[in-house]
Formats: sequence, C-alpha cells, structure tokens
Amino acid sequence: MRKPQLGYIETGEAIMGPIFDSLLENPTDFPVTLVFCNGSSLTHLNRELIIKAGGREAVTKDSPFVALHSDQDPDVFRRVLLDLMSDRPQIKLILTTSVLAMGFDSPHVDRVIHYDPPSDLTDYMQQIGRCGRSGNPAEAVLYFNATDLSNVRKHPGGKSVDQFCKTTGCFRGALMQYFDCPLSTVKNCCNFCTGD
Ligand SMILES: [Zn+2]
Repeated sequence: MRKPQLGYIETGEAIMGPIFDSLLENPTDFPVTLVFCNGSSLTHLNRELIIKAGGREAVTKDSPFVALHSDQDPDVFRRVLLDLMSDRPQIKLILTTSVLAMGFDSPHVDRVIHYDPPSDLTDYMQQIGRCGRSGNPAEAVLYFNATDLSNVRKHPGGKSVDQFCKTTGCFRGALMQYFDCPLSTVKNCCNFCTGD
C-alpha cells in the first residue's frame, strides 16, 4: 500500500493513464474497478479512455469499460448490472457518477477509486461499500486536492469529507468514529496503518 502523499500533486493523466493502459493491455486480469467522479471528470476520463482504446469506432458492446451517468441509456445500465452479477464479468472498469451505489450488490468489485471526493461521508461509505462484498481483499482509493476540498465544503455534508481527507491517523478509525461504529482490527487496514 502507498503512504499518503499529502501535498503531492498528480495530474489526472498521471493518476488514470497507467490504470487505463493496464485495463486495455490485459482486461482478463484487471480487477473489477468502479471509478466515482463528478460529471465533468466523467466526460473527460471517458474521452481519454476511448482515445486510448483506439477511438469511438473501436468501442463496442464487448469493450471492458463503460461510463454510467444519469443520462445513460437504461439498456446500458441493465447490461452492465447483468454483466457484473454474472460469474465472470467482462466489464472491468466502470466510470460512474453517484448513480451507481445503493442497491448495487455485485460480489466482483475489487477496487473503488474516487477520482473526485464525494460530497458527504454517507455517500462515501455507500460507494466504497460496493467493493469487497465477496469477502476477498479490496481496495478503496480517494484522490483530492485543495480545490476539490474547497468545492466539497460548499455541500451540506462536505465538512465531514474535508475533515476525513485531512485525517492524520487511521482512515478506517476516522470513518468508524464518524458513524459511531465499534472499531475492529483488520489486516491491511489503511495506508496510515500498513504503509511500506
Ligand atoms: Zn488504518
């Protein structure tokens, strides 16, 4: 696991470029990944991914990625949900706004990436709760910068996200404390607890 790199600036390309490359090079071994982001990031990331995949004409129903947003065709939603509930999902990376969270219960999601921070911690818990439902190890990664946090603080529940991002101790502990849950000890807890 990586140590938190607070203050270290990565561009969007530096964050997602290697992930997109890895997906397109070997979709079979790529862990099923949900990427939560806001609407404008979704448009941008989807465009980057399509370009890397060879252009819009190269993107077919069998492509290992999809973008889900509130204006997406309901048939695409149904196809994605059916695929993710199947024994061997073919879709490995889903770019999504907050439309895919509650009620989505696939056992195959191994990783959740927040390319943008959520607007409150309840949303965050619901969204990261989509991974690891098989009981296998899963990973939640949250990216933010000062501009993101400034925008997040404008939301009613945004202060809690701002405080969470600035946590200087265990991230799991901070979440459990916020939701008034008993803290359990786990292996590979978070990057503060199990760095190196
Ligand atoms: Zn921890």
